Amino acid sequence: MKILVTGGAGFIGSAVVRLAVARGHEVVNLDALTYAANLANVAQVTNSSLYAFEQADLRDRPALDRVLAAHRPDAIMHLAAESHVDRSIDGPGTFVETNVNGTFNLLEAARAYWLREGRPEGFRFHHISTDEVFGTLGATGQFTEDTPYAPNSPYSATKAASDHLVRAWHETYGLPVVLTNCSNNYGPFHFPEKLVPVVILNALHGKPIPVYGQGLNVRDWLYVEDHADALLTVLQRGQVGRSYNIGGENEARNIDLVQTICAILDDLRPEAAPHDHLITYVADRPGHDLRYAIDPTRIREELGWRPSVTLEEGLRRTVEWYLRNEDWWRPLLARQGVGQRLGTKVDP
Ligand code: NAD
Repeated sequence: MKILVTGGAGFIGSAVVRLAVARGHEVVNLDALTYAANLANVAQVTNSSLYAFEQADLRDRPALDRVLAAHRPDAIMHLAAESHVDRSIDGPGTFVETNVNGTFNLLEAARAYWLREGRPEGFRFHHISTDEVFGTLGATGQFTEDTPYAPNSPYSATKAASDHLVRAWHETYGLPVVLTNCSNNYGPFHFPEKLVPVVILNALHGKPIPVYGQGLNVRDWLYVEDHADALLTVLQRGQVGRSYNIGGENEARNIDLVQTICAILDDLRPEAAPHDHLITYVADRPGHDLRYAIDPTRIREELGWRPSVTLEEGLRRTVEWYLRNEDWWRPLLARQGVGQRLGTKVDP
């Protein structure tokens, strides 16, 4: 299959690109290369004859038309987005432009292409989204595919809007879409402004490890390579017009996640132990959702998918990766004030 992956130089998109190429698919990576992108994330496939890169912006409709006409993909996996909640609070405009208007442009470009190609049977537009569109949970319950949308941050509001557009393009125009809503990802190549890499890198530097509020917010964590596997499963076997929740069945309070990472570091770097004395509670994020938890029954029962690693195992692999790959993260800390953001703002 030839797949156009948008956002393939980002964290999750690059995991999809690496896995798809490893499985023998042709991949066209379309990415605007914003601050969050890093072509080093796909270095291992760059020389493959199965891989092509196109620098293009979702906000540039003619560019999208050109890429589709030039490569004629069998499917589109749409991951490109502005993805950092704290940045969406500081400056929501770009989130609306990319996540809402950009998705609209891609849908229109895809629809025109699909019609031009004679509505090929197997064509899919796969929209990748987040469980944050459902808002927050109390102490109990889980998000199902039927949970009403109630986004609380500018980021999740723009992702919710994009989900609605994708659904409507199926209902109105018959575009063969599938949607997925996933819980928090972690793993290798995670940009160092998100919680897991912030904890690892601050601990390595002996800097305070910031934890919002009392650290009681609960997230359902999924190893990024398991997410990529779930996405390819839904793309190939998901039912058209349907959405699938993807989760790791790994709920953890932020403070417990941070403690686990510290314990792994204690084990791998006993000379610097204990690491948890660096934990520092910082003022909570406005509108901080208390708890997210995914009910993954549909993807498990309908498509037979389940995560391959436990949270403990995935975190260990992630910490080991950051210890081995200083060449990857060191230049990022010096870039665009990312280093300064460490210790103040984190995005679980
Ligand atoms: P990321 O920020 O790491 O990567 C986003 C990529 O999109 C970057 O490479 C960036 O250059 C590209 N991009 C941004 N704006 C663009 C534009 N206007 N045109 C073209 N490319 C553009 O994000 P991520 O964490 O890999 O998330 C990928 C997708 O998965 C997003 O849609 C996000 O909403 C969704 N998601 C993320 C998580 C998570 O835990 N990170 C969980 C569930 C869903």
